[in-house]
Amino acid sequence: MAAAAHESYLIVGAGIFGISTAYHLIRSRPDASVTVVDRDAFDADSRVAASWDWNKVMRADYDDPLYCELALEAQDMFTSDALWKPFFHQTGLYWMCGRDYARDCISNFERLGRGHDMAVWPVDEARNMFGGLFSESDYTHVEQVLVNKASGWVAAGDCLRAITRVAMDLGVRYVAEEVATLRFDRDGTCVGVQTAAGGKLHGSHVILCTGAFTPKLLELSAAHSGMSDLRAESRILAGGITTGMAKLDDEALARFSDMPVGIQGYTAKKAPFVGSLPPTKDGELKWWGQKIFRNTNEVVPGRYISTPPAEADYAQWEISEKLKEDILSVSSVFYGREALTWKLEKHRICWDAFTTSSDFIISPHAASKGLYIATCGSFHGFKFFPVIGKYVVKMLEGSLAAPLAEKWAWDRERPDPSMNPDWPSMEMRELLDPVRTSRL
Ligand SMILES: Cc1cc2nc3c(=O)[nH]c(=O)nc-3n(C[C@H](O)[C@H](O)[C@H](O)COP(=O)(O)OP(=O)(O)OC[C@H]3O[C@@H](n4cnc5c(N)ncnc54)[C@H](O)[C@@H]3O)c2cc1C
Repeated sequence: MAAAAHESYLIVGAGIFGISTAYHLIRSRPDASVTVVDRDAFDADSRVAASWDWNKVMRADYDDPLYCELALEAQDMFTSDALWKPFFHQTGLYWMCGRDYARDCISNFERLGRGHDMAVWPVDEARNMFGGLFSESDYTHVEQVLVNKASGWVAAGDCLRAITRVAMDLGVRYVAEEVATLRFDRDGTCVGVQTAAGGKLHGSHVILCTGAFTPKLLELSAAHSGMSDLRAESRILAGGITTGMAKLDDEALARFSDMPVGIQGYTAKKAPFVGSLPPTKDGELKWWGQKIFRNTNEVVPGRYISTPPAEADYAQWEISEKLKEDILSVSSVFYGREALTWKLEKHRICWDAFTTSSDFIISPHAASKGLYIATCGSFHGFKFFPVIGKYVVKMLEGSLAAPLAEKWAWDRERPDPSMNPDWPSMEMRELLDPVRTSRL
């Protein structure tokens, strides 16, 4: 489709939502002006994006029919498209879950005629699968094990960098600058952004793909413009989760090299879901923790919301002992006593934007013409990287199918957060190391 001469797209945030949008926009409108602005260079050694990571799980095992279908669409790209294929490792997935969850996943796959890769096993039989790697796992509250041979994991950071480069080769402009606030004209139409360095970037369409920073950027923009309806309020919450990695020795690496992704969650007891990812190219096994937290602080006088820590790198490498213990306990949930012999050498806190329903928000912002939101991965967004931008483009065109537009709307009814086992309910300050003070 040709772009109208006055149309320009300014995408704030170069995680998977932003880059997928840029990629699909420039492919569908090669003449359009498409700019991505992010505080970090796309090839920086360290980035704050949740999408920038060693690896992420790619699975279509969803009890929600819509995400199941969307994830299958993304998985098909990872398995068949030369652009995406090099980053996907189709190791299979071993999911210790509840009976209801397994049943709903299976029925989604069967409805779509895709059930052949998936089976459910009683716990006793499943323990012996994959060379007994999960024989020492903690199966408390686990009713069944769902095994999907078609799932796996993606080398996330490598994939993000490569697709960004492709988008730039196709004509997308990348600006590495921090955005301080949104800019509006006299009618309240969003016309661009002001950067922290004082520069101005213009766009007839400004699309916020800013992940966990989104509520803060909207608060700052509301305070700056006086447009209080810009605020995210209870729609979006910034939440953090710790990840940790252990380097395996040669003997362990040989046993674990062909392992599937391990997940435990949505069991009979509604605990958050935790996971173990197969060794990376550097022979490191990764887990994510079960403590999911917020960081509430005053962003403008009298306004308290959860944000990533104020440091430029979100203080993502500063991990308290309590959060390291969280990873240790998750590693033994999967591998029992053997996990205690491994040294956890790398940790990171990863920040994402959450909604109470775990649905994304892909929608015009109700308070300002020209402003759009496309983010809220809610801890499961990465896998949709190959396709999500296509849906963002449809939203921009106003052609998103009604069920998707309703599910991803800025304004919709949202469930109570207590229904969501992954909701960030703890405060980060409760999980920090005690500060020792001396009176001597
Ligand atoms: C620990 C953890 C594990 C996960 N595991 C999986 C998994 O296995 N599988 C899966 O599918 N999903 C997983 N997810 C979820 C997934 O990573 C996220 O949902 C997804 O990456 C979010 O993408 P995004 O583009 O919305 O945000 P991000 O990737 O966070 O990108 C936002 C970008 O916006 C930029 N930005 C923000 N504010 C500004 C500003 N003011 N100025 C300039 N730039 C700005 C940031 O620098 C960043 O690059 C996980 C998430 C976490 C936290």
